[in-house]
Amino acid sequence: MKILILGGTTEASALAGALAERSIPGLFSYAGRVATPKPQPLPTRVGGFGGVAGLAEFLAEHGITHLVDATHPFAERISQNAVAAARLAGIPLIALTRPPWVPQAGDNWTSVANIEAAVAALSGPPERILLAIGRQHLAAFAARPRHHYLLRLVDAPEAPPPLPRHRVVLDRGPFTLAGDLALLREHGIQRIICKNAGGSGAIAKLTAARELGLPVVMIERPALPERREVHSVEAVITWLAHESAPEPDSESAPESDPRTDRGV
Ligand code: NAP
Repeated sequence: MKILILGGTTEASALAGALAERSIPGLFSYAGRVATPKPQPLPTRVGGFGGVAGLAEFLAEHGITHLVDATHPFAERISQNAVAAARLAGIPLIALTRPPWVPQAGDNWTSVANIEAAVAALSGPPERILLAIGRQHLAAFAARPRHHYLLRLVDAPEAPPPLPRHRVVLDRGPFTLAGDLALLREHGIQRIICKNAGGSGAIAKLTAARELGLPVVMIERPALPERREVHSVEAVITWLAHESAPEPDSESAPESDPRTDRGV
């Protein structure tokens, strides 16, 4: 058995720890988006594979028997590639994801389907906005230059974002309620724009928004191809045990030794 974890999330790191603890052989993969990725207790590679074909080739070359897609729910391309590459390589795939956040009493959310719809939702008068969407799609908000954007990023941007009024704060989760309340108050934030990432690491801003009565524009997740999906590390470990056990016998084979007929 050899597992490849597609990482970049807290859950992926937790799974890497669980595999290492159990001495289950595995590799960890980062896209290479942040300058100093969290060290992992598994051999780690960094960078794209070169699309579906590149990933399928990697799986075969490294004798990967199980693929775990533990990437962020908004990492749409790699998740699509993982489904296709696992199929090409003939190995099982599971996605380890977090359930999406759902609004609670006292929340004032506007759910939108994508970044463009979030931009469209900002047609009102100038506001001070916490734009907590990472750095990849900031340019889309240049279409709404009247707002002041507070950008929370892991690394300083290489080039200044094309937003005439903005400020960058460098920080990485997990974030705390006290910290996010202080941030929102200090910068006089009037609205939050974020992705429905789910999980606990970035939920503090939503609790803070509820406490302060701030509206939230919630960008919902992209649709992904059908795949097996679980929400806990334990469920992945159970799946691995199940997937690597000898398959239950078909109707016609003898009960005594199901493997004999398959020549395994
Ligand atoms: P993406 O748009 O789905 O992927 C773009 C390309 O990056 C993929 O086609 C693949 O390149 C490469 N890639 C992505 N994840 C990879 C991984 N774990 N290992 C190796 N290559 C990977 O992904 P993204 O939205 O840029 O996210 C990149 C990474 O940041 C992911 O690991 C994700 O978990 C993490 N992340 C993303 C977000 C977000 O909001 N999107 C938030 C937090 C963390 P090739 O086609 O060349 O293989």
